Amino acid sequence: MQYYSTNGDSSKVSLQEAVVHGLASDKGLFMPEVIPTIPKAFFNNIAEMSLQDIAYVVANTLFGQDIDSKTLKNIVNETLNFDIPLVNVEGNKYSLELFHGPTLAFKDVGARFMARLLGHFNQRKGEDVVNVLVATSGDTGSAVANGFLNVPGVRVFVLYPKGKVSHIQECQFTTLGANITALEVNGTFDDCQALVKSAFMDKELNEKMQLTSANSINVARFLPQMFYYFYAYAQLAKMGKPLDKIVVSVPSGNFGNITAGLIGKKMGLPIKRFIAANNKNDIFYQYLQTGEYSPRASVQTIANAMDVGAPSNFARILDLYKNSHEAISAEISGCTYDDNQIAETLKETYQKTGYLLDPHGAVGYRSLLEGLNDDEIGVFLETAHPAKFKETVENIVGEKVAIPSKLAAFMKGQKSTVKMTSSFASFKKYLMNI
Ligand SMILES: *Cc1c(COP(=O)(O)O)cnc(C)c1O
Repeated sequence: MQYYSTNGDSSKVSLQEAVVHGLASDKGLFMPEVIPTIPKAFFNNIAEMSLQDIAYVVANTLFGQDIDSKTLKNIVNETLNFDIPLVNVEGNKYSLELFHGPTLAFKDVGARFMARLLGHFNQRKGEDVVNVLVATSGDTGSAVANGFLNVPGVRVFVLYPKGKVSHIQECQFTTLGANITALEVNGTFDDCQALVKSAFMDKELNEKMQLTSANSINVARFLPQMFYYFYAYAQLAKMGKPLDKIVVSVPSGNFGNITAGLIGKKMGLPIKRFIAANNKNDIFYQYLQTGEYSPRASVQTIANAMDVGAPSNFARILDLYKNSHEAISAEISGCTYDDNQIAETLKETYQKTGYLLDPHGAVGYRSLLEGLNDDEIGVFLETAHPAKFKETVENIVGEKVAIPSKLAAFMKGQKSTVKMTSSFASFKKYLMNI
């Protein structure tokens, strides 16, 4: 399968090139040339299939031409070595719990898949190590670092702003060792991102070493996220629920997660409609209302992983629906909630049902409370474990939130970082000498 750029100004590339380069040379995002459909028969016995088996069928439909089946099966099984249960919260509303992976957030799925795919391509080429540079304000760094941990032929450098990530987050990428190096930058997140960008543009560095980025624009990170939409359907089928009125609500920031679901639907997954749930960074919501896409600076909220002012995957949604505002609005509705509404939903849901949401999941759940019809089945993506936002959640519910043992284990490790100023000269010198 070939991949084209949403900007349309560069030639099509192979899966390998799309994964290794991340962004097209015309700065567009890669999209699969064909969206293949899965035979209807697959859905007849999906209720009996495991997450791994379902994911393999989906992965094989997308990537089967480019990766041999044994390798692909291994990649899928290693990626999904944890469950993604669908849990009833109340009535016809279900939580798809995406927080059972190593860093307790949905990004584990894409990061683990991409890491293994990159490792495979690199081994096949028999080339030097691939160096993954990732700037993080918290969550992405931990998912990427843990996803790439001990993957042969890949080395990861996580750049993070000193003193500006939470203690739990810092532990998740500074205690790993092996092929993961944490660079503690004396500066802001923007400084970290600027260092990474400068490195990708530096000719001398790129001649010396192979550099790659691992953010959500990468096809190998966003496409595998569709696996769990199919698995949610399978679990509803197993429960004997009606399958023709499924509504999925996705707490959205950069819109990679929801785009994966939309492509899943195009491949044949029977989802009736989607809700893109926003916090106050409601650029997409405004687009749905007005037809105008107006990116703007992000504002800080308690659902901070969705604080995005220019959602990068918007270009993919436009491409998927051929720029038709009408077609997009027919399939996706929007909503936007402020911090008070998010906190209120989190608190009331806990008091009423005993289910503890995280602030991002709360945005998704509220959209179902307000917008789901009685004859529909609502699924919202619970994108992270509430303990990842311990202080915020404790303040809202007025109770202690227990830290899962997986998260606690990170906190026992020894922190090890390389200290760095925010000057590119020193970063470059460091990379040239490793
Ligand atoms: C990244 C993230 C999101 C937003 O996902 P997108 O794919 O960027 O829309 C939502 N919730 C959590 C917890 C996240 O880490």
